[in-house]
Amino acid sequence: MSVGPVGVLALQGDFREHQHSLEQAGATTRQVRRPEDLESISALVIPGGESTTIGRLASLYGMIDPLRDVIKGGLPTLGTCAGLIFLAVDAVRDAPPLLEVLDVVVERNAFGRQNDSFETPIDVAGLDSPHQAVFIRAPRVTKIGSDVEILATYDDQIVMVRQADILAGAFHPELTDDLRFHEMLLSVREEN
Ligand code: GLN
Repeated sequence: MSVGPVGVLALQGDFREHQHSLEQAGATTRQVRRPEDLESISALVIPGGESTTIGRLASLYGMIDPLRDVIKGGLPTLGTCAGLIFLAVDAVRDAPPLLEVLDVVVERNAFGRQNDSFETPIDVAGLDSPHQAVFIRAPRVTKIGSDVEILATYDDQIVMVRQADILAGAFHPELTDDLRFHEMLLSVREEN
């Protein structure tokens, strides 16, 4: 049986970069904008961008409930940066519309003005060498539920988590040529 494409939420943000990384990692992809685009996808990526815009457009396009349903149904999902925020159950201060499927609370733009954007090596559970992480007005995770595993921290802040088939990070692997996060998503898909 053929495996369906990986859906990439393409409402706003750097979805093309995610498609490129996924294709480099050997997957086929599909841009997702409407509920019917979710049909027969085998995994999902929610890109970085602006979570307020992604949340508002998702509401406008009637995508909140369909996305929630497929992710709660166990669709392997990777969120980066704004994607992490959109997956969360809550955001401290100015929460945009959220999917509330990942049991974490996030703080948006958590790394301060002078440190708005930076690159730094981080250790990630399951990877045998550090990842050169790109943080762009990145969120941090301030609270996690009991089913959430911490995969990476930076400066004592939680920056990557996993809960069952959901992977979410505060940084942007899609802006690097490190394919290991997209490969991680594809291996979650294989486990299913
Ligand atoms: N600061 C953005 C937000 O709050 C996230 C930035 C990003 O995705 N690079 O949505």
